[in-house]
Amino acid sequence: MADYDLAIIGGGLNGVSVARDAAGRGLRVILLEQGDLGAAASSATPRMIHGDLSVLERRGFFLVRAALAERDIWLQNAPHLVRPLRFVIPAHAEERPLWLLRSGLLLYDRLAPRRRLPASVTVDVTHHPIGNPLKRPFGIAFEYSDCVADDSRLVIAIAVDAAERGADIRTGARCVRADRSDIWRLAVIDRGHRRVMTARALANTSGAWTASVAETVLRLPLPDLGAVVMSQIVVPRLFETDNVYVFQNHDGRLIFASPYERDFTLIGTAGAAFTGNAAIVSMAAGDVAYLCDAANRYFREHLDPSDVIRTLSGANAVEGPAVKRAARDGAMVFDRSRGKAPLLTMFGGDIATSRLRAERAVSRLTPFYPMSPRWTAKAALPGGDFDWTRFEAEVDAARERWRFLDQPQALRLVAAYGSRLAAVLGDAKARADLGPGFGPELTGAEVRYLMSKEWARFPEDVLWRRSKLGLTMPSVDREALATFMA
Ligand SMILES: Cc1cc2nc3c(=O)[nH]c(=O)nc-3n(C[C@H](O)[C@H](O)[C@H](O)COP(=O)(O)OP(=O)(O)OC[C@H]3O[C@@H](n4cnc5c(N)ncnc54)[C@H](O)[C@@H]3O)c2cc1C
Repeated sequence: MADYDLAIIGGGLNGVSVARDAAGRGLRVILLEQGDLGAAASSATPRMIHGDLSVLERRGFFLVRAALAERDIWLQNAPHLVRPLRFVIPAHAEERPLWLLRSGLLLYDRLAPRRRLPASVTVDVTHHPIGNPLKRPFGIAFEYSDCVADDSRLVIAIAVDAAERGADIRTGARCVRADRSDIWRLAVIDRGHRRVMTARALANTSGAWTASVAETVLRLPLPDLGAVVMSQIVVPRLFETDNVYVFQNHDGRLIFASPYERDFTLIGTAGAAFTGNAAIVSMAAGDVAYLCDAANRYFREHLDPSDVIRTLSGANAVEGPAVKRAARDGAMVFDRSRGKAPLLTMFGGDIATSRLRAERAVSRLTPFYPMSPRWTAKAALPGGDFDWTRFEAEVDAARERWRFLDQPQALRLVAAYGSRLAAVLGDAKARADLGPGFGPELTGAEVRYLMSKEWARFPEDVLWRRSKLGLTMPSVDREALATFMA
């Protein structure tokens, strides 16, 4: 008998989503991630959980409807990690005609199955706070509802749920070879040790590495793939309102600017073709200048490349001509050659549709194993067992219980851990009860929790993926954190 029913190569959003779905259906699952969970493309996304208006323009009505239905599911199942926001499109005379935008948004509202979020409206920005950061002469803007997620914490929460349902999640474990017969025999370098394991089915969810894993690890014909890179810049907060601004740049590309953590703004655009090593994706100086110029076209606050605090870049595979699935849904290829163990290859796709994608992928394995029915649409992620309309109430309750927390601290902690915050803070009565401090926010108790429950091994895992405290932590505290974690 094989050690596992399903082995998964890659611990990004796609890999952990497959692991969670399959573990919850009773399969014996192992997930192998060569570095940290979500450390590649899944922590460099624009963080949107949306139906995507631009897809509507290409008449992808069913895709938009499906993504909007998933948006509702995310809000319901991860109310701490997914936040509804009002998105703003300032109307620019040289861009899409106003009637087109207005009717597009009406349709967008109608495609949302449950309509739990406020509908779109037209706003006179000369008399509205959302116009304050904008250059003149914007007269009107369109405001509509969509959601923003904490992408890397979403990956972690999904992995935690998978593990609690029995999945074996291994970080620092690189799959170097997989031999296929009626089962898969995998060779893994697991934190320096070579291990061999067997599985009845294999999922290749290695993102931008999909083709190279197929070629060098599985030694199978290369899938016909391209790659796309998306890059964002983090700058000091450009506007006070809690809105996401969406602009069309002079070259037609859509630019978005959204609130990022408490004191920052994230600015990014749609992806561009990528060639190179997925392990070392970085943002070119020209791309940084491009995003600054685009922001300067719309915002009063002038941005210079020297204002950029951090760049985020990630690459992912996109389908070549042979893989014919819509990009929104990502791509999935299922290979069940006669007498051979099944192989699932899955890559790309939006955050919004990742749950559905994993559900469909695991369902492909039903002819091979007895498994329980689909379940993830109605199951909250760890910490997400409260209604999303009660998020503020959860923050108030946290301040009531841990009186030493100020409002921003409580907000950050509830947004990260939701109802599981008690597992981090315990019965602490004062901040001193939480162990040493690293910068103004991070405490020893939180670091211990992240190391014992969320696979954090190195300071970067804590500072950039389990939190974004790397944005504000002084270097002396980073050194103390490294010593503490070691
Ligand atoms: C930059 C970017 C921005 C995006 N923005 C959005 C957005 O705003 N909204 C949205 O809905 N969607 C967005 N998407 C789509 C979506 O977020 C991504 O498609 C998704 O996060 C990709 O997840 P993944 O699991 O396929 O890949 P990744 O997150 O890249 O994960 C692949 C993992 O496989 C691991 N791996 C590779 N080889 C091995 C091996 N041999 N052994 C073990 N592990 C291995 C890697 O270390 C990596 O962690 C974006 C995509 C990109 C590329």
